[in-house]
Amino acid sequence: TLEMMQQQIVSAKTDSEFYWYLEQLQQATDGDFIGPLFDQQKIRFTSVSTDTRTLQAGALYIAIKGANFDGHAFIDEAIKQGAVAILVSEDVETIVPGVQVDDTRIALGQFARWHRQQMPLKKLIAVTGSNGKTTVKTLLADIFALNGNVLATEGNLNNDFGVPRTLLNIRPEHDYAVIEMGANHLHEIGYLTALALPDIALLNNASGAHLEGFGSLEGVIETKGEIFDGLNANGANNGVAISNTDSAGFDYWQNKIRNSGIAHNLTFGSNERADIRLINCQTRSDTKLGLELVLQFEEQGQRQNHQVIMPVLGEHNAMNAAACCAVALAAGLNWAQIKPALETFSGVGGRLQQNRIASGWLLDDSYNANPESVKAGIKALTSLQGESVLCLGAMAEIGEQSDSAHIEVAQFAYRQGVSTLYVLGEKARVMTGAFQGEAMFFDDHQAMAVVLAAKIRQAAEQNNKLNVLVKGSRSARMEQVSQAVLQN
Ligand code: ATP
Ligand code: MG
Repeated sequence: TLEMMQQQIVSAKTDSEFYWYLEQLQQATDGDFIGPLFDQQKIRFTSVSTDTRTLQAGALYIAIKGANFDGHAFIDEAIKQGAVAILVSEDVETIVPGVQVDDTRIALGQFARWHRQQMPLKKLIAVTGSNGKTTVKTLLADIFALNGNVLATEGNLNNDFGVPRTLLNIRPEHDYAVIEMGANHLHEIGYLTALALPDIALLNNASGAHLEGFGSLEGVIETKGEIFDGLNANGANNGVAISNTDSAGFDYWQNKIRNSGIAHNLTFGSNERADIRLINCQTRSDTKLGLELVLQFEEQGQRQNHQVIMPVLGEHNAMNAAACCAVALAAGLNWAQIKPALETFSGVGGRLQQNRIASGWLLDDSYNANPESVKAGIKALTSLQGESVLCLGAMAEIGEQSDSAHIEVAQFAYRQGVSTLYVLGEKARVMTGAFQGEAMFFDDHQAMAVVLAAKIRQAAEQNNKLNVLVKGSRSARMEQVSQAVLQN
């Protein structure tokens, strides 16, 4: 019967070209072999899965203990789905071979790190920051795709699961990998960068986003700065640290970079000391919306201005473009290889997406919100010609300062020229008292959509230009407002 089981296991393997040996997993994680005693070293798996619902035949199943369930309970199911090996931290009875370790999360990270070191990438780029990580990652993937074979983080998989999973997707044919790293707590970025061992590390910015897990802005600055810790760890000693001259924390990061002996220190921003300097940014709102920007940097020994038009809005996106330009230059590309990707970049879903409405434009930025990103969105909105309406769902995850942050955003919106403010969610209610223009509170998406639709109709009838920004934390689900208005 043992032989029959072995037969079963062997036939479950797929023909996928890339595979790992179980022995490699055992060595990378310093674990113990478990399961039936036959050539465990020779067992191969072609993918890695922590979820039996998406597991593919030929996979290694990793049993993870979560807050609500324990993956060890699904081992039989995983084997039924075609898992050929398992990685566990408990003593289990198993008909497939496996490796036992103390902590499967840590082991996943160790294995991912080991795998990354085997891959002949030209450059691995790590991206962190309070805002714009996914946008920058996506634009970088576009740039590198024009100049080679690139792997980038899928969606927003930027945590201690997503990063190892992404690293394990690197294949010998990839030239570049762009890895997004997010954090909710101190030292999380340090952990991720030690797995990814980046050649280039981009710190996009630090702001009061997700203060809840950090306690203070200083905590955010320190944690984001940990991204540079992985640069020296790959042994090559030619790492490039990239930071933002305009951001809180810049001086702290500069000190850190200098003191840690990182080979290259590159900066971007609007400050004149920035290596890649954004010197001009204008919104174009003729037939199409877009940004016209000028980046100044040195190429072939000469500091020059480089102009480009991007089909996205918001000065923050011009800054994201400057950040990407810095990364691409650090990776050895030149402006001619960078520019075409900027010219065709239309942004990421849910981030300032442009929709035509009868009175002008509706900008759907409903993916997420924190005070800094709301301000960035307000600037994009008010850079358009016409009246500005802000529809804001409450900002979550900002901790004790929730009231003052909401009030400050309301005041900022008014100063920037927003005439009408519609807010949704209890935490945002304080804004109506702090906003000096027309302000209304809603506890229901449909109700807001009805009032907004009427406002747009009225403006259109009177031939007034009126533009709308819809934004809010993920939990506020403000896309429901956009969708209701756009469907009418
Ligand atoms: P998350 O923490 O959810 O992964 P993220 O850092 O990946 O977010 P994006 O998804 O790229 O960020 O953008 C989220 C929002 O942040 C955008 O909708 C936009 O409003 C804002 N944003 C993007 N780039 C910047 C920037 N450079 N500065 C300030 N705000 C920005
Ligand atoms: Mg993201």
